[in-house]
Amino acid sequence: MAPHPDDEVVGCGGLLSLLAARRRATRPVSSVSRGTAPFVEVIGVTDGDASHPGSTNWTPERLAARRRLERLRGLRHLGIRAPVHSLGLPDGRVDSHERSLVDVLSRRLRSDDVVITTWRHDGHPDHETVGRACAEAVRAVGATLIEMPVWTWHWARPGDAAIPWHRLRQLSLSGRALEDKWLALSEHRSQLTPDGERPPVLFPEAVDRLLRSAEFYFVPEPSA
Ligand SMILES: [Zn+2]
Repeated sequence: MAPHPDDEVVGCGGLLSLLAARRRATRPVSSVSRGTAPFVEVIGVTDGDASHPGSTNWTPERLAARRRLERLRGLRHLGIRAPVHSLGLPDGRVDSHERSLVDVLSRRLRSDDVVITTWRHDGHPDHETVGRACAEAVRAVGATLIEMPVWTWHWARPGDAAIPWHRLRQLSLSGRALEDKWLALSEHRSQLTPDGERPPVLFPEAVDRLLRSAEFYFVPEPSA
């Protein structure tokens, strides 16, 4: 479940590519087209229409349409062709819809599902709301929650006491997965290009950090 278009690339693009590759290697082509449930479902919470506030080039409507397209194109690079479920909640104000998010997800989830979303304490209000909603829905049905630090990398310091280091795991990416992630991220041009005098939303240092050869995830608290 991605709060904004690009969170699924930024946070777990490499993992999605690895999962898609494994799927291709273990399933015969004939069974892929047989109409079974998709192995990955992407739920887009907002269309990211508030990434350029006050811009004369990007109205919220234009941004939403563009970013939905960027998301689809990006996911294709990762081998994900399942339809995206777009909830269309207001970018930057997801907190007023937390209850309905829990309901939407609870209805879709089964106990053997794994939900990947942004960390509950990521430092961005939408990311935190979606993380909390997922945690509640997952708890209710007995599914598994994996949380992605995304904005965390902007503020966390080495050894930061705010980070649950014991839950953090590193996933090493293959060269192919890293390349797929780069191609997917490249589709999000609205976030990567300057808007007149304004710098890109995803500035070069942030992009460099995103394209490390590993991704990091918070796994569930070990049970006692
Ligand atoms: Zn986001």
